[in-house]
Amino acid sequence: LEAKEEFSHKTRAMDVMRPRKSDPALTVITQDTMKVEDVESIVSSTTYSGYPVVVSPTSQRLVGFVLRRDLIISIENARKKQDGIVSTSIICFTDYCPPLPPGSPSVLKLRSILDLSPFTVTDETPMEIVVDIFRKLGLRQCLVTHNGKLLGIITKKDVLKHIAQMANQDPESILFN
Ligand code: ADP
Repeated sequence: LEAKEEFSHKTRAMDVMRPRKSDPALTVITQDTMKVEDVESIVSSTTYSGYPVVVSPTSQRLVGFVLRRDLIISIENARKKQDGIVSTSIICFTDYCPPLPPGSPSVLKLRSILDLSPFTVTDETPMEIVVDIFRKLGLRQCLVTHNGKLLGIITKKDVLKHIAQMANQDPESILFN
């Protein structure tokens, strides 16, 4: 049936990415304004494998991607071994960290664990192409942007679920979805 063809070709990254419209916003980390305690609370209140790092909460411009396990290990190590790292220390992923008022606790620099070029697609990218990219590049996750702003994330599992859904759809549900 032609409708099926059309449907499967029309599924785009925005239809598969998280968060869905009704979901809470994407969990992100800012590049140079969050404290150690802020990041610790994000890591303990969520189970995601990683977090996009953005310029600021308002800009949502993507800076990179940081893995949950790298964050946990680095913060733990810094708290144990690095002088002056406390709950209120600012975490900084940038090259040059912003100057802080005298007497502020030491800054925790984590640029080394940041993936500076995570794979991204735009929200309009057909899922066919996204699936192909995941296969060919062996991606674990891919970020979704619109006009340069971060919108969402698609993980390997999201892609696998999407493929399974496409395979299980009967023609009726495709036509009336
Ligand atoms: P997996 O998809 O393998 O379970 P995750 O635990 O990282 O991997 O992600 C679980 C779900 O949450 C996925 O549907 C994914 O799209 C979404 N997700 C992943 N990272 C984030 C994030 N930082 N903020 C919001 N949602 C996320």
